[in-house]
Amino acid sequence: MEKDNYLHTNSSKQVVIFGGGPAGTATAITLAARGVPTIVLEANPTVRSKIGEVLSANVKPLLNKMGLNKLVDSSTHLPCYGNRFLWGSSQPRDNLFIDRPLNRGWHLNRTDFETKLSQLSISLGVKWFWNCKLLEVRSLESKWEVLVQYRGKIHSLEANFLVDATGRKAKLARYLGRARKYYDRCVGLACYFFLEDIEHIPLYTHIEAVADGWWYAALLADRRLVTVFMTDGDLVERAWHQVEPYWQKLQQTKLIKTLFSTDRLPNYARGVFAKSAQTSCLVSPVGEGWLAVGDAAFAYDPISSYGISSAMGGGYYAGNAIADYLRGRQEAIPAYRMVTERAFCNYLPLWRYQYLQEQRWVAGTFWRRRHQQ
Ligand SMILES: Cc1cc2nc3c(=O)[nH]c(=O)nc-3n(C[C@H](O)[C@H](O)[C@H](O)COP(=O)(O)OP(=O)(O)OC[C@H]3O[C@@H](n4cnc5c(N)ncnc54)[C@H](O)[C@@H]3O)c2cc1C
Repeated sequence: MEKDNYLHTNSSKQVVIFGGGPAGTATAITLAARGVPTIVLEANPTVRSKIGEVLSANVKPLLNKMGLNKLVDSSTHLPCYGNRFLWGSSQPRDNLFIDRPLNRGWHLNRTDFETKLSQLSISLGVKWFWNCKLLEVRSLESKWEVLVQYRGKIHSLEANFLVDATGRKAKLARYLGRARKYYDRCVGLACYFFLEDIEHIPLYTHIEAVADGWWYAALLADRRLVTVFMTDGDLVERAWHQVEPYWQKLQQTKLIKTLFSTDRLPNYARGVFAKSAQTSCLVSPVGEGWLAVGDAAFAYDPISSYGISSAMGGGYYAGNAIADYLRGRQEAIPAYRMVTERAFCNYLPLWRYQYLQEQRWVAGTFWRRRHQQ
């Protein structure tokens, strides 16, 4: 294969970000706003549909600060006015967002949201290379040389700082030998249903605890209802990867099944697919000349709905820390580490408390594991 330096720019202070999800893009936008030349290398050929649609109401001040408030003002997203829980009791209860900014969150069209984020970063001067495969990273004196495969050729580019925004797999951190700590074995089994009758569905996120895990369901603006069954990877029965048995399992719920006006299997897209949803973190999210952001650094349990907002908040802090560091402020990277690790440490007891609220199946493996944490 030919070697090329097509991706090389002559900039003396260039940042290369691996991964163009919410964390990588928020980092890129912040760096561009600070005048730092930035390249995003994304493994996928285009923005792909992703599971994880609930954007917390708490994110609005961050969106305002980053000039991104228009991103959610679109008819491709639905407002979400609260959570309806069946958790710790057989009676549903509502937690409305009346005390949050704007009194609402969103059920996002993730593809539209991430497409607009990437377009915005491009309009600020960030260069994107899609379908790019990380081959090798070499540490030069005070720089990095990155080898990637792009359009059938191997390209080499230099960077003063690298960012791992590759999600839970943390590809760069792993490549650099950084260990990861896992707190559970959680996996989400997701299915998108096309509904004809949606008028009876309140604009809430619906959450229901069951004996071997919990479900959530979110209505999307295109009349799809996404349902996700969260359980531990080793508790998943092989059959649940098929839509019929998945639908039968869903029929055993009390709250989630009421969102469907029929007990006949509706039309669905893509079948059932599984996604790792383990709560986990890197042993340290920073190293010499690199840092990790978003899920790559700290991956939260979807029960928290922290994922997207914390990835974007992390991107904002990371971008500012890198810009400061490149201007000689050595303390900026340890400060980023302190702020993000503290946020994750503060979250852990809240996360455990959430699971302790459910005591109906204490002998069941899923709940026992969480109560013993
Ligand atoms: C089942 C489930 C449900 C969830 N529900 C919610 C929810 O309702 N609300 C919420 O806020 N969060 C939710 N989340 C979490 C949320 O989706 C993530 O926290 C969020 O996507 C993190 O953003 P990120 O940019 O860090 O990572 P990602 O969104 O995972 O983006 C990483 C990007 O890196 C790219 N990449 C991977 N490897 C490479 C490589 N080697 N080189 C270059 N690019 C690479 C990927 O293609 C991807 O585009 C959920 C997660 C799961 C698993």
